[in-house]
Amino acid sequence: MTRNDAVKPVLSVENLTTSFLVEGGWKPVVRNISFTVDPGETVAVVGESGSGKSVTSLSIMRLLQKDTSRIEGRIMLNGRDILALDEPIMRQVRGSEVSMIFQEPMTSLNPLFTIGEQISEALICHKPMSREEAHAETIRLLERVRIPSASSRFDEYPHRFSGGMRQRVMIAMALAARPKLLIADEPTTALDVTIQGQILDLIKTLQQEEGTSVLFITHDMGVVAEIADRTVVMFRGDAVESGPTSEIFHNSRHPYTRALLSAVP
Ligand code: ADP
Ligand code: MG
Repeated sequence: MTRNDAVKPVLSVENLTTSFLVEGGWKPVVRNISFTVDPGETVAVVGESGSGKSVTSLSIMRLLQKDTSRIEGRIMLNGRDILALDEPIMRQVRGSEVSMIFQEPMTSLNPLFTIGEQISEALICHKPMSREEAHAETIRLLERVRIPSASSRFDEYPHRFSGGMRQRVMIAMALAARPKLLIADEPTTALDVTIQGQILDLIKTLQQEEGTSVLFITHDMGVVAEIADRTVVMFRGDAVESGPTSEIFHNSRHPYTRALLSAVP
């Protein structure tokens, strides 16, 4: 997809700087980065471990601890300045307008509740509905993320699911309220290579079918090539380069981007 300046971006990150309170001083770990995600588009943020990718996504979700972090700049989500929102409103925005999936799906699932209970709860949380309606909608979502024999798995606990299946559950949960933006922070990094491919295919399919915009965080240029329309390259807290993915691959300007590319088989 090409950039169209007439299109209103779903997400616009403007001069974002995020700092942490470390040993009594503010240490910036993301410095003055800017990018946009247009409707239906997938934008990748790529960079090595520690380059500030997760901090960027957690800043957008406003999930960083308030007393030890400081976010400067502007983050516009569907035209709303989310850094200006009160926490109760931000809670509604999370999940309904923007959802996030994490690298290790087990950290987001409660081991003591069944998969069905957790997805139903997410659904009811966003839209009042009866238990029966939530049950039916949960099974529809599990089918949507291609979980085999979805209806028979409603009453199972997370430990019964493989890593790949748990990530599918997390995607189902993230899509429960049909957010306009899905932030995926290295969702395939902890998975076997074949399962990685399946999860990427699933995200691509859902994105095409539902028109969800995706901000895809990864350290892997191979994954970027698979999924992203546009790419932002991060290096030690700076966005060193950004543009259409094909341009990044064929016409990269920054030596760090070229180093990342040389690692792609
Ligand atoms: P990655 O690109 O691997 O996702 P992160 O965004 O997690 O990198 O981290 C970027 C930098 O910020 C790292 O140097 C990390 O140690 C530091 N960092 C992350 N979270 C905190 C925190 N809560 N307090 C202090 N430093 C942090
Ligand atoms: Mg990270």
